[in-house]
Amino acid sequence: MSAPVIRRSPVHEATVTEIADLTPRMRRVTVRSDAMVGVTIRPAQDVELHLREATGRRVKRRYTIRHARPEIGELDLDVLLHGEGAGSRWGATAQPGDVVEFQGPRGKLELRPAAWHLLVGDESALPAVAAITEALPAQERAVAFLEVGDASDELPMAKVDVHWVHRGDAPPGGPELLTAALAAIEPPDDARAYLMGESRAMVALRGVVEAAGIPHDAIFVKGYWNTGRPDRLAGRAPS
Ligand SMILES: Cc1cc2nc3c(=O)[nH]c(=O)nc-3n(C[C@H](O)[C@H](O)[C@H](O)COP(=O)(O)OP(=O)(O)OC[C@H]3O[C@@H](n4cnc5c(N)ncnc54)[C@H](O)[C@@H]3O)c2cc1C
Repeated sequence: MSAPVIRRSPVHEATVTEIADLTPRMRRVTVRSDAMVGVTIRPAQDVELHLREATGRRVKRRYTIRHARPEIGELDLDVLLHGEGAGSRWGATAQPGDVVEFQGPRGKLELRPAAWHLLVGDESALPAVAAITEALPAQERAVAFLEVGDASDELPMAKVDVHWVHRGDAPPGGPELLTAALAAIEPPDDARAYLMGESRAMVALRGVVEAAGIPHDAIFVKGYWNTGRPDRLAGRAPS
């Protein structure tokens, strides 16, 4: 019996071309890669960066492609500077000229037509929410409930009614504040939902959204990070 074929997506190289601070905790890192020239990016697709922890251990971290310029192979990645971690550190220290390896684009989110789209998440999902809502047809309505530390974390969002939920001194990653904020939603029959943020919080919020009337199979749930468990994100393994 022959061994199963394991297909890995190719590893590409990108060079950092520009850095911009969007908020005190969100930094845009623009990278350019010949491998991305002519590649069409779907809304909220991401790349998996190959990074190193402070110990030197190799790890992979995923970042949403906020904008793509396929004519020159450029991608904007908006990196939350949340504190410890290889991804956060890369965002805080990246400089033009730095080279980074990555795989992708990847991501399974499909935008299907609906009269009403509900987007729920935390800071790590702001790039995905912005990319999704910008891609929606004009006649489809979008409403977002987004948890951030405070008003300084808020980013401009087009084509969506945003309810910002401020965490203040509460720790990030719990479902409580968004659960309370979602209590008043009244989704129409033709509604879809997208939940992106801390893994266990998003699973808990799926129940809240289902209880409000959005069917199970109309809800997309994606864990973006795990409270206190850096390497246990669904689908993530140390490289
Ligand atoms: C498909 C996908 C797309 C994503 N897109 C983006 C994006 O566009 N921008 C973005 O900033 N993030 C994005 N993320 C989330 C990002 O990959 C994770 O936050 C990742 O854990 C960051 O890695 P790190 O090395 O900085 O921290 P880790 O080494 O993973 O964790 C170190 C510590 O920081 C905590 N931590 C990790 N992430 C956060 C956070 N977001 N908030 C608070 N505490 C945190 C952990 O619980 C742990 O205690 C995306 C994730 C996925 C799966």
